[in-house]
Amino acid sequence: MKVLVVNCGSSSLKYQVIDSDTEQIEAKGLCERIGLDGRLVYQPTGGEKEITEAPMPTHSEAIQMVLDALVNPKTGVLKSLDEVEAIGHRVLHGGAKLTESALVNDDVIAAIEEASDLGPLHNPANLMGIHACMKLMPGKPNVVVMDTSFGMTLPAKAYRYAIPTEYYEKYHIRRYGFHGTSHSFVSKETIKYLNLDPDNSKVIVAHLGNGASITAVKNSKCVDTSMGVTPLEGLIMGTRSGDLDPAIIDYLCSHENLTAAQMNTILNKKSGVMALSNNLSSDFRDLEDAMNEGNEAAGLAIDAFSYRVAKYIGSYAAAMNGVDAIAFTGGIGENAGIVRKKVLEYLGFLGITLDEEANKKRGETFVVSTPDSRVKVIVLPTNEELAICRETVRLVKNA
Ligand code: AMP
Repeated sequence: MKVLVVNCGSSSLKYQVIDSDTEQIEAKGLCERIGLDGRLVYQPTGGEKEITEAPMPTHSEAIQMVLDALVNPKTGVLKSLDEVEAIGHRVLHGGAKLTESALVNDDVIAAIEEASDLGPLHNPANLMGIHACMKLMPGKPNVVVMDTSFGMTLPAKAYRYAIPTEYYEKYHIRRYGFHGTSHSFVSKETIKYLNLDPDNSKVIVAHLGNGASITAVKNSKCVDTSMGVTPLEGLIMGTRSGDLDPAIIDYLCSHENLTAAQMNTILNKKSGVMALSNNLSSDFRDLEDAMNEGNEAAGLAIDAFSYRVAKYIGSYAAAMNGVDAIAFTGGIGENAGIVRKKVLEYLGFLGITLDEEANKKRGETFVVSTPDSRVKVIVLPTNEELAICRETVRLVKNA
């Protein structure tokens, strides 16, 4: 079955066409600057990348351009759109109602709209993508895969915040967790790769990218996760603060005369390793180069980032009363050996030893711990599009 996987942002859209039988990508690309001047990048597998600049006032025109590129007689990978049997959409927030992947219907759309309050930057864009696909490919099944679904198996002791119950009941303020598609994919693949028992295993997945989060996965179910109501909580990220004393917000708002919304922007866009490195960069390649040249702030940013990851791994090992495997994924987890080394240096007490030679590799799945390490540590590239494709096929076949 050919599946179109769509991931909409407010002014961009990433897409892939995947053949679910071979799990190979047939074409991929993105639309940028939707609502502005518009730019389509299209790359058929094995072919040249094409860039087309054309107006894309809304997501509908953007998707129309993607579909035209896919059936272009010269460079398209499809003879006709009939070949696309289903569309899988990434959705950020499912809220309290949408707890599992689902075939799109009116109730599902209403639930995504309702959760827009909790995901105001992403959910409206995700909905635009869904409406555009429904309009341009009428009759085809659309499936939504939420970033929050994997966290819905958390027990109450992990998802409840210790704030008045009325806020939980009125506003559904609870830990949801994000990057769920990635954590689900990587934990499953880790279990397969290391031959662990899906029903009797303890895995910690560290998804370290520009956004970063970590999950504890016991017997294939997520039992804890570092992000919260929004993707701001938890690890230090590229420009997000992660955990902090909530009283800082009131203190800075009153001393700096900031509104809560301005403070929110500071914590999301002006914090993280970017802030710790004195605005040098949020990219670990730049930070590592600067650290090697003696830049102390860049060194602090990498140290603080790694220390926070190690503390979370320690606490999740406690939450599960042990850990069999730790998986690193995401742009930093897959590529930055320095971060893996720094994190694992804290975890010797778990019987973990790093294979320094293996730690130089990147871009593939490999074990990075020594054969005698009590806990296996692996690097496993995430593939959220493939995970969405698999979910889409599962739901369409079971419909
Ligand atoms: P992601 O959000 O998963 O795409 O990850 C993006 C981040 O991964 C970038 O901002 C970098 O910090 C990091 N990254 C990507 N490639 C490398 C690399 N070769 N070495 C170190 N960090 C990298």
